[in-house]
Amino acid sequence: MDIDFQKLRFTGRVRIQLQSEQDTVLNSVGLNIQSIVRNEKPVDFKQSGEELIVQTGPFDGILEVDYTGEIPDSLVGIYRAPYDHSQIVTTHFEAAQARRMLPCVDRPDAKAEFRISVKIDKELMAISNMPVESIVPEGERKLVIFESTPRMSTYLLYLGVGKFDERTEKLGRTDVITATTPGKAKLCSFSHDEAKKAIDFLESYFAIPYTLPKIHLIAVPEFAMGAMENWGAITFRESALLIDANSSTRMRKRVAEIVDHELAHQWFGNLVTMKWWDDIWLNESFATFMASKVINSLHPSWNVWEDFMRNETAGAMERDCLKRTHPIQVPVKSPDEIEQIFDEISYGKGASILRMIEGFIGEDAFEKGIRQYLSDHAFSNATGNDLWNALETASHKRVQKIMSGWIQQPGYPVLTVKVKEGKLVLHQERFLISGDSEKGIWPIPITLETNGHLQSILMDSTEQTIDVDNPIKSLRVNLNRTGFYLVRYIGSESLLWNSTLSPIDQWGIIFDAFAFLLSGKMTFPDYMNLLKRFTTGVAYLPSHEISEQLSFLYSIARPRILEFSRTFHRSQLDLLREKTDENALVLREAIANRLTLVDDSYARELATRFRDYDNVTPDMKQAVALAYARSTEDYETLITAYRNSNSDEDKLRLLTAMTTFTHEPLVRQTLDFTLTTEVKRQDTRLILVTASGNPDARNITWKWLLENINKIEKRYESTGILSGTFLSIVPMLGIGRVEEIETFFHNHKIPDADVGISAGLERLRVYDRLAKALA
Ligand SMILES: [Zn+2]
Repeated sequence: MDIDFQKLRFTGRVRIQLQSEQDTVLNSVGLNIQSIVRNEKPVDFKQSGEELIVQTGPFDGILEVDYTGEIPDSLVGIYRAPYDHSQIVTTHFEAAQARRMLPCVDRPDAKAEFRISVKIDKELMAISNMPVESIVPEGERKLVIFESTPRMSTYLLYLGVGKFDERTEKLGRTDVITATTPGKAKLCSFSHDEAKKAIDFLESYFAIPYTLPKIHLIAVPEFAMGAMENWGAITFRESALLIDANSSTRMRKRVAEIVDHELAHQWFGNLVTMKWWDDIWLNESFATFMASKVINSLHPSWNVWEDFMRNETAGAMERDCLKRTHPIQVPVKSPDEIEQIFDEISYGKGASILRMIEGFIGEDAFEKGIRQYLSDHAFSNATGNDLWNALETASHKRVQKIMSGWIQQPGYPVLTVKVKEGKLVLHQERFLISGDSEKGIWPIPITLETNGHLQSILMDSTEQTIDVDNPIKSLRVNLNRTGFYLVRYIGSESLLWNSTLSPIDQWGIIFDAFAFLLSGKMTFPDYMNLLKRFTTGVAYLPSHEISEQLSFLYSIARPRILEFSRTFHRSQLDLLREKTDENALVLREAIANRLTLVDDSYARELATRFRDYDNVTPDMKQAVALAYARSTEDYETLITAYRNSNSDEDKLRLLTAMTTFTHEPLVRQTLDFTLTTEVKRQDTRLILVTASGNPDARNITWKWLLENINKIEKRYESTGILSGTFLSIVPMLGIGRVEEIETFFHNHKIPDADVGISAGLERLRVYDRLAKALA
């Protein structure tokens, strides 16, 4: 490649050694193909959609393609990421975007060795997957030649060009390198340490050393996702890698989680890759699950499995209770389809099922099976079946049968538990948030405890009767929520309250109750009575869940919930006063944020601290900004603070606060501001999502979206994140205007968000029904 950093264009020449049984089909998007040469002779070609058809006929040899391309301000392919008054050129290729930089066979199973060289201005640096092999000076320019990669997939290639500050440390034979734009290297200490410890842990867990000579962790100023696991050159949005004195405890935990997730991919995904995107969930769910294992080992006080429930299992269950869901394993073909399955099902449900399987076969057998799978398929590709076989061999348990039941059918069951003539009667059917009934049988590894005795069974029928000790004095089912199903106790609730419940058990009960409220299976008074059992104490996971539920109810039915929510959040804040462990700080941040929205006198009092905002403790900064916005409606002061801040996290805190104004024109002004160059392109969607949660600004946010929808679409084109964005905002913005919003999206199609939009419309009907019932 020859990159013109000023004019933002490039010329490229790719030489591909390949065999073809007929005309060769490469992938190419947005490139100007100049000429193609086959074994030194020119050959005809034509472009058809994303395919470049080269008329080679049956062929074995070297194909050489000369081409040129542009470097746009996008978020995929090769693109420009601006910062301050400068820029870097960077790439993001997953899933099907490598074809925007080079004509190639752009499929995960078409692995190849890549040898990359790039000509750039002499004062710039280039980073790729492999270390630099040599640099050839050419006047004002230089040619940077990288070592050859091992066999790998195109979606994992990386190229970055610009000025970077680097910090390198040796870990065994691996160089661990963090890279940032100039002046930010010191903000990498936290992630650098996390990365070293995580690589250490993963090498010993997988019993395979990290493969490449170096690993970069690169902070990219504009980035659509959280991070991307390019082999040996992981990219992060800046806020997912950089930590400073201003960072909240919540962000520290998030950075650790993302770093560990991407590092787990270096083995699971990069060394062994799915054959096709229908197994993308294998990559994502495994990395998600594995990140929690790493954190559990490196940061035991975080009780990471509690976060796992909140972030992964909950999100997946909320997504998967819609009719418009999909099985974990789903046939996909077009790039639009592929990009849209990077969702809660691929990450959270898959990871929860892996947790369930590990619980069923035991940690040792699970680790043994994973090691076998990785060593059998290194530098190659594999399918889900290969993994189940490895786990089955390691455990001698029926992994294959259980997995096929969970990954090939959509949704999940609700298990009803009744006591009949001294026995337990269990019944399963599919849980749908609409309240509709639907038959379905999942092979469920059930765990239960009666009178302190544990039992495990594999339930693979609609109904099952179980002998237990009599008389039954205490009962709990789905211990620590290792099973991906809801539990509904019918006439047996009192036995549940006689059991000793772990924080995760308590969370499960509260989570399920809310699902039953939404689906019409529980009345509002019964739901409130259940919540009251858990509101007298404070515990990280259950308190978070209650706070989240109350804040949602505040959004759709403020008068019914305001007083209860205010009392709850006030008392939680009191109970948290003395606690200083990291999870307590994270919980306190969430509680304080929400209290500012429901308690005007608290907001007024807290707002006075905005005068000295720079010195507010990081975990309270969001609450102080929210309090200031709510009680003053002072746009100008907040926007000035935004402009004076140079921390991404802080800028987002201030913008978030500015979506909670009660005065509609101010929210509109905030939304308009997110489309200016003063706000990172990556962040517009976050602000749109928080604005849709503000019941005072729902009308104006909807109006604003209608006026700006084309800009939003353009901004996130081909990134795949629009689908999730619409799934978040449609159910909130549509409350009270269901038909209007349905008609709008019926007439206005967005192909790379159609899945999220139709799921969002389905969820909207449920929310709107509850909002009406509570009005
Ligand atoms: Zn991932």
